[in-house]
Amino acid sequence: MLLRAINAPLTAIRGIGPALVPKFARLGIQNIAGLLCHYPRDWEDRSKTVPIADFRRGQVCTEVTVVARDWIGYGRMKTLKVFVEDESARAALVCFNRPWLEKQLVQGGRFRLWGRFYYKYGEIQSSAFEIEPLTEGQSSGDGNRVLPVYSLTAGLTNAMLRRFVSRALDQFAVGLENELPGSIIARDNLLSKAAAIKAIHFPASDAELELAKKTLIYEELFYLEIMVGKRALERKGVQTSVPTTHYPLPTIHSPLQQRLIERLPFSLTKGQQEAIAEINGDMGDTRNGYAMARLLQGDVGSGKTLVAFLTMLRAVGASSPDGGQAALMAPTELLARQHAENAARLLEPLGMRIAFLTGNIKAAGRKDLLRHLASGEIDIVVGTHALFSRDVEYKNLRLVVVDEQHRFGVTQRSLIMAKGDAPHLLMMSATPIPRTLALTVFGDMDVSVIRDMPPGRKPVKTHLARESGERRVYDFVRGKLESGSQAYFVYPLIENGDEMDLKDAVSMAERLANEVFPQFSVALIHSKLDEEEKRRTMDRFRKGEITVLAATSVVEVGVDVPNANCMVIEHAERFGLSALHQLRGRVGRGQEQAFCFLVYSDELTEDGKARLRVMLENTDGFVIAEEDLKLRGPGQIAGIEQSGYLSLGIADPIRDVETLAKARTDAFFILENDRSLLLADNRIIARVLEEAAPFGEVAL
Ligand code: ADP
Ligand code: MG
Repeated sequence: MLLRAINAPLTAIRGIGPALVPKFARLGIQNIAGLLCHYPRDWEDRSKTVPIADFRRGQVCTEVTVVARDWIGYGRMKTLKVFVEDESARAALVCFNRPWLEKQLVQGGRFRLWGRFYYKYGEIQSSAFEIEPLTEGQSSGDGNRVLPVYSLTAGLTNAMLRRFVSRALDQFAVGLENELPGSIIARDNLLSKAAAIKAIHFPASDAELELAKKTLIYEELFYLEIMVGKRALERKGVQTSVPTTHYPLPTIHSPLQQRLIERLPFSLTKGQQEAIAEINGDMGDTRNGYAMARLLQGDVGSGKTLVAFLTMLRAVGASSPDGGQAALMAPTELLARQHAENAARLLEPLGMRIAFLTGNIKAAGRKDLLRHLASGEIDIVVGTHALFSRDVEYKNLRLVVVDEQHRFGVTQRSLIMAKGDAPHLLMMSATPIPRTLALTVFGDMDVSVIRDMPPGRKPVKTHLARESGERRVYDFVRGKLESGSQAYFVYPLIENGDEMDLKDAVSMAERLANEVFPQFSVALIHSKLDEEEKRRTMDRFRKGEITVLAATSVVEVGVDVPNANCMVIEHAERFGLSALHQLRGRVGRGQEQAFCFLVYSDELTEDGKARLRVMLENTDGFVIAEEDLKLRGPGQIAGIEQSGYLSLGIADPIRDVETLAKARTDAFFILENDRSLLLADNRIIARVLEEAAPFGEVAL
């Protein structure tokens, strides 16, 4: 992974001249270390023959004779076509852009041939093949080996990369220093660094290849966790296990917190109480002054907002001698406004001075607001990403709460954090963090989980319905509306351009109003409407003046209207499972039984239906998120790609999650117990620990 020792230029290798350097750069290869760490994307076992006739089984690997040649096309587009034969069949090699093949592939010549073939124009063809001359009576050196297959770019072929990597290995990789502690290599029977690097490119056997992979994957994940652990220890300034802390109940609430709790018409759930206890533990002055960095996970509707409010009460005003301020950031204006209204209702009576700040607050109002924020006349500010606009200054920002944190990028989180002097951070998420992320991106945060729901909630009844059966869904919903309920209808698009079969929010709002529910008031909401209109619509929906809301996924996050207990999601197959779960979480917030209908296209495949069925069988957001992750594959997880620090070459934190957990245990053990010993013993870890974290943006 690191190979820090080898930063020699590429041109130190025979055969690489300055002209090739920019080509390597396109592959992200800057020096010898980069070349050696350009691990193969696949390996080809060239010891097994696959004759041409078996081309459908995969890669052909055989010995052929050139039997005929032909030219196709004219002028500059002229392309050589070479016919070859092995014992099983004849095939055509189309030599696009490889003029040099004309000299090589002469009539009667014997070659070893590899490539993928397909059936076209009545012949077996390939344009992506490789050849190697066969000298009579002997097979070629490479012919019996497992060979690397690399990601390529124009001007670099597999043959070139194999040659250069092989030279780099000979020149530089002998006697390479181990980067893993010797004790771990011995314990797990891993390869030395030098052996692993060599074997990952040119393994002597399948078994050796597996061992090389195991070694290098472990090494990458070990260093990842060393970095995560380092951050965690720095933040806490103490050597403790991470994630940590279970504070005993009951906790002492601050006076302001106590007053809010007393004013509530209900009591806190056990999960909320525990979260507050943990948060108070973090923010209490008995701890040694480090900033809280806590992730609060709780399924939709578990009551995270209230925990956020109680947290803010701990940070502001009287609780903090220097008049601390708290900021609550939400991903949409709609949600921010809802929070601001709730904050006004619940916190203003306690004397909190609250402000609402979004990009839409203009001119004079904004100027006053900013002045009050800077002078400390505002205790709590609620808003969107406008909270970290350049001109926003805080007198003393002590706490940042990020709601629906997965909607924000790492950079945005750092920008808001930078507005204070190491403020406390509380991130909230209804999308459960998969184990992988909990170990990596969020690996240095403490986690609180609210597992219970406020009492009296009944699980939402979920049904699948074909589009052609939508009439029955409409009839059912009409019945509910008649008995006083409200409903959301959600569409994947605001407005439909060309896709004829797709319902969209704008035209369906009209149809629902005129044809389906003419006796009820129907309104439309989506992200393109101006904020004032959105606000008015949401207000009227909340007050019950609007019965049916035709919407896009703007209502996905956070919106809380307890009397709305029907949710119809049309073209449900177009939404991710986690999005469906979020949308479904908009209903079932009151005492009435709630319903959710997932309406899917009549043409939906069995796989597609199976995916939607996950929603019928699960109410647990965590399970749904895991399923979603499995279906969407690794690259997709929010956080990983944007964090930019998982520059992993061979490890895949999802596939390798077990190894990741093990590497984490090792790394944290070393950091906590074994540090001095290890630092004396392993110069590379020592150096890594001294360096500034290469992924500073993860400073959460
Ligand atoms: P989420 O965790 O999805 O953000 P909210 O904070 O929006 O959930 O809370 C959902 C609803 O539950 C709100 O209407 C809130 O007032 C209510 N609520 C929160 N805590 C409790 C509680 N302990 N008992 C009853 N209702 C609660
Ligand atoms: Mg919420």
